[in-house]
Amino acid sequence: MIHFLVLSSGSCGNSYAFFDGKDTIIIDQGLTFTGFSKRLESHQIPLDSVRAIFLTHLHPDHCKGVGATARKLGIPVYLSDVSVSVSESIIRKEKIDSDCIHTFHHGTPFRIASFEVTPYRTYHDCPGSSCYEIRNGGRKMFLMTDTGQIPYDAHSAAEDADAIFIESNYDRNLLKSGPYPKKLQARIAGGYGHLSNEEAAFFLKQHAKLRSQVYLIHLSENNNTPELAKNTVSDSLQSGIFVTVCHRGESYEGFIDE
Ligand SMILES: [Zn+2]
Ligand SMILES: [Zn+2]
Repeated sequence: MIHFLVLSSGSCGNSYAFFDGKDTIIIDQGLTFTGFSKRLESHQIPLDSVRAIFLTHLHPDHCKGVGATARKLGIPVYLSDVSVSVSESIIRKEKIDSDCIHTFHHGTPFRIASFEVTPYRTYHDCPGSSCYEIRNGGRKMFLMTDTGQIPYDAHSAAEDADAIFIESNYDRNLLKSGPYPKKLQARIAGGYGHLSNEEAAFFLKQHAKLRSQVYLIHLSENNNTPELAKNTVSDSLQSGIFVTVCHRGESYEGFIDE
């Protein structure tokens, strides 16, 4: 069985855990170390089962806690070779020790304990950003956040997944009528910004299979509401797909049976 956790999502901090009963892998760690460890342990995922952290990208809401967590737990941090080559100053600023850092190429799968992780590129204003296909036994999960467009590889990576975690950042109309200056609106809605509710819905309509679990993540505080995200996505999906909207900063847990 896989026990997974959305520890937190949104601009206040993002982190996700996947535990197979023995080992845990983490995607992103934008929480304080204390917040991270309390949330893991309150859901019965032991801190000493954590084997590695994978980063989607180096924006602070995804990596603020990575340096401290890697140091305290003595675990590696994986990110793309492109991220490392262009983001040295951010890595220094976020105090991620260079000897914790391991790099990967997009598209090349690798193994951590019983997990097979395949990173693919995403399109965001942070070079080298990634989404992840995760397999363990016969189970498959896909997590994609902070991307202005759907990468080609995401289609096969999400196909037949038991659980899909996808950004549903903004509602188009709320963004347009909201308080953000035009330039910032254009960044969010642009090809290197974020996914809208409609884009997430269209992707899920193509790929969410019956009885799969869908988690809508990274909702904007100003340009979205949980109700709008849920309605937009649910309207386009057949029944029998379980959609959970992750409110900003809150934790959610789920299980995938054998
Ligand atoms: Zn983000
Ligand atoms: Zn970002």
